[in-house]
Amino acid sequence: MTLQQEWESAFLNNYSTPSIELVRGVGSRVWDSEGNGYLDLVAGIAVSSLGHGHPAVVDAVSSQVGQIAHTSNLYANQPALALAKKLQALTGHPCKIFFCNDGATANEAAFKLARKHGQGTRLGLVSTDGAFHGRTAAALALTGQPGKRSPFEPLPGDVVFVPYGDVEALKGAITSATSAVILEPIQGEAGVHPAPAGYLAAARQACDDAGALLIMDEVQTGMGRTGNWFASLAAGVVPDVMTLAKGLGGGLPIGAVIAFGAAADLFIPGDHGSTFGGNPVSCAAALAVIDTIESQGLLDHVSLMGAHLSESIVALRHENIVGVRGVGLLQAVVLQGVTGSAVEAAARAKGFLVNAVAPDAIRLAPPLVITQVELDEFVQALPQILKEATS
Ligand SMILES: *Cc1c(COP(=O)(O)O)cnc(C)c1O
Repeated sequence: MTLQQEWESAFLNNYSTPSIELVRGVGSRVWDSEGNGYLDLVAGIAVSSLGHGHPAVVDAVSSQVGQIAHTSNLYANQPALALAKKLQALTGHPCKIFFCNDGATANEAAFKLARKHGQGTRLGLVSTDGAFHGRTAAALALTGQPGKRSPFEPLPGDVVFVPYGDVEALKGAITSATSAVILEPIQGEAGVHPAPAGYLAAARQACDDAGALLIMDEVQTGMGRTGNWFASLAAGVVPDVMTLAKGLGGGLPIGAVIAFGAAADLFIPGDHGSTFGGNPVSCAAALAVIDTIESQGLLDHVSLMGAHLSESIVALRHENIVGVRGVGLLQAVVLQGVTGSAVEAAARAKGFLVNAVAPDAIRLAPPLVITQVELDEFVQALPQILKEATS
């Protein structure tokens, strides 16, 4: 049996079958089971923020797993407490934390906070077309992609969707029955669409006017990906609830909900929980990620590398490239005359992992530690990749 056949006989059919198997990684490079090396410009979908095998993460995880791997929430553990305090300090605003396991469960908790805020009378939620908030029921209910939602309806309601980036449409949808508005500061899965200037601030104002919560889904944009710890706070907008996951654990599964101000008092004992949430191994990994981003000055590095990457791709003036959009190390190359999936395949054959995030775009979300030399390798190979993708 080929790897593909074995895979298909073992797993549910919810993913398309992968074409390669990754076996190890160092820094921004990974190797497959046949010994081929790749420059990793995907980072497990914006997850492996320090790249692969980073000594800070390896040491933190190894020592914690040997000490105590799991406690449950019946007992306190020091890595979870230290991480919560660290996140409080990074936001610079009064807030409290709930730990879970991934992005979807962070948004599930945010949904329940909105229900508590609504007190059974305000049931409305406002989300945006194209939004991605996860695959579990409430997170899916907030996801503005009908193809992902419709097979599973009815989903928890009353969610209305408005075009992303349209202030008037957003204001028009928020009423006295709205419990919360949920937004990504940059729509990631929809194809890397940054919010227009002023959009997040207008959403903040509209939520304040109506007494609704503003939930910022920073699962993809948070933890340094944009060159800031949090994209919403960098835009001067303090949400009521922020959700984090992807890059937080540097490859270990962890999600977080940060509730600011009065939203931090909405849950009472018994309202919510997670057996694995706040797991000491994942929390130790996240602490190592944050310490390394701070000690290595990686936020500035991300801003510099992001600007360098987008400028050098634009400077190619290639006929198949319409432009580059994104912030920091979350970028999409917008294509014409060639599909994202053809470019993804051609790049892989040349030793580069990129992600066909949309029919007409590839997403680049490399490890935050990627070097300029590594990025230049990709940019120099891009014309040949596009040639092979179009032939
Ligand atoms: C990936 C993602 C999620 C879902 O995270 P999972 O860990 O896959 O559940 C939610 N919101 C955004 C913005 C994401 O990018």
